[in-house]
Amino acid sequence: MKKNLAILAFLGSISAFLTLGISGHDPRARVEVNLPDVLGYKTLKCDLHIHTVFSDGLVWPNIRSEEAWREGLDVISITDHIEYQPHKEDLPTAHNRSFEIAEPHGTALGVKVIRGSEITRKMPPGHLNAVFLNDVEALDTEHWRDAVKEADKQGAFIFWNHPGWTGQQPDGVARWYPEHTELVENGMLHGIEVVNTRSYYPEAHRWCIEKNLAMISNSDVHNPLNLDYHVHSGDHRPLTLVFAKEKTADAVKEALFARRTAVYSGNMLIGEERFLKAIFQESVHLINSALNITGSGSAFLQISNSSDIDYELVGGEDFAEISVPEKLVIQANKTVLLQVEANSDELSGSRNFAIPYIIENLMIAPETGMPVVFNVEVSFLPGG
Ligand code: ZN
Repeated sequence: MKKNLAILAFLGSISAFLTLGISGHDPRARVEVNLPDVLGYKTLKCDLHIHTVFSDGLVWPNIRSEEAWREGLDVISITDHIEYQPHKEDLPTAHNRSFEIAEPHGTALGVKVIRGSEITRKMPPGHLNAVFLNDVEALDTEHWRDAVKEADKQGAFIFWNHPGWTGQQPDGVARWYPEHTELVENGMLHGIEVVNTRSYYPEAHRWCIEKNLAMISNSDVHNPLNLDYHVHSGDHRPLTLVFAKEKTADAVKEALFARRTAVYSGNMLIGEERFLKAIFQESVHLINSALNITGSGSAFLQISNSSDIDYELVGGEDFAEISVPEKLVIQANKTVLLQVEANSDELSGSRNFAIPYIIENLMIAPETGMPVVFNVEVSFLPGG
């Protein structure tokens, strides 16, 4: 009997282990996105393009709020298609319902849910998202210009979705049409998705810089999020980072119209240098900046990184007196070593070096990484 009890207890502990999840992650635990606040703003993690069963998504709206909470997001917008509702035989057309269902659960969990919709037309102008709407029904119009005008009348922030989507641009290359010029000139296009799902559009990146539009990055998720992104294994959905004065809907809207955004996709940050530099400077610190090198030996800089980004440094340049690695990854949430070697055993005294690198995965323009410099003082001691 005792033996049986022991076996039962053993089996019980196995089942408890399995119930909690073999990976040890509680599926209802929130994982924070570690990116610092910068320049006096809160760095809010936002996904402004999400579908539910009320258009062609496969998820009930309130689950979208909990997925976002679980992944460390601050703000989401539910943006069901107005013109495409493959489930309408099962669910009535009710363009505001997905927001109304998602919003209370988001509020209960501290996730801001923004009322939005996707104006779904052929190219040009393609698909546009309007967020911060008051009433989605009013956008259900025959002509796309009327829908956009109505969104603008409601004070919405309007952006162009996946401009290089192969469904509308078979070669995946985004193209700018006169209709987009018309929208920009009328103040009715405020941003572009530089990243949608896992696709990066360099053309959109360039247009945002040239035309002063907000850089946006969204999941456009239709499936349960976890089918597409492995959140508990370090994967994450693409996010728009919004640098807002506070975590309120009004502050997010103000920041979007002021174009204070950046793109966080995979291990990439894309945006204006002032934001990327601030994120790097707030998260990366030199633990020691004065090194002693004996003879032709070497010494180590310790560099800590409190963010979730692996900073990928390339192009380290050697000096007459010292050599440094050409490449270095400052790993997320770790401290790494940068080895500094003396080139000769006949050096003496102290010297300051500004060691330059390019951070390849912090993109300040298409194919342009962000430059950084590490300032180090090296004292050369006689070799033994
Ligand atoms: Zn969409």
